[in-house]
Amino acid sequence: MTHKPGPSPAPASPSPAPGGITTAQALGWMHTAKFLTTAPRLEFLPDHGFPEIAFVGRSNAGKSTCINTLTQQKRLAFASKTPGRTQSINLFTLGKQAVTDAVLADLPGYGYAAVPKQDKLRWQQVMANYLVTRENLRGVVLLCDPRHGMTELDEVLLEVIRPRVEEGLKFMLLLTKADKLTRVEANKALSIAKLQAGGGEARLFSALKKQGVGELAQRLWQWTHPDLLASPDTPPPPGPAPSDE
Ligand code: GDP
Repeated sequence: MTHKPGPSPAPASPSPAPGGITTAQALGWMHTAKFLTTAPRLEFLPDHGFPEIAFVGRSNAGKSTCINTLTQQKRLAFASKTPGRTQSINLFTLGKQAVTDAVLADLPGYGYAAVPKQDKLRWQQVMANYLVTRENLRGVVLLCDPRHGMTELDEVLLEVIRPRVEEGLKFMLLLTKADKLTRVEANKALSIAKLQAGGGEARLFSALKKQGVGELAQRLWQWTHPDLLASPDTPPPPGPAPSDE
């Protein structure tokens, strides 16, 4: 699906970004996302050995829209919404030239009112197990609609991962649908979220306005390529040649 002859239409910044990759390069990397597999339970998850980033959030938080926007693929995460997959963990590979270097895990949305309590509890357990035991889990993005704030289940999830965050697991509280807030409301929500994120970080995101998309892509690349960030002298990652002339 990537048959574009030239560089990305977004103007790439000419010099390597301080973060090791430009936002345009990070978006190019994100665009390589491909569906890998769907796992109804933890034991069905493959041990692929690549750094994995989990996207979690209550249903309707904007998770599918975020993943589709981030990967610039209209239907990618809606694969997670097809019947039979809504209660599964869906994995997507990332990597340029079809060489996988990271994996995205789309965890089912929780808290959907119509789901029976028993099922909710069972799913909470699966999710907690995943977050606690998944060895190659490198980072967690918790999506939250700032108009509703963090729910009880969001808080539970945060508590579950807190020990791992203290040990270095990356964590981000992503405030979705930021276009629905005024600037003042957005700043206030962000300040609160930064406190709630504990050892992690908080960011604003709008799929509608494409706010924070490149920055999120850049951050996820950084999380999954810490070795390429270690030294300020590190050359930029392999990608399109700096000049095609
Ligand atoms: P999910 O259940 O977490 O996967 O949520 P969806 O991605 O399906 O989004 C839930 C609803 O929020 C849909 O109606 C989306 O169109 C809407 N939505 C998602 N992202 C945005 C956004 O950035 N801005 C606005 N205004 N609406 C959004």
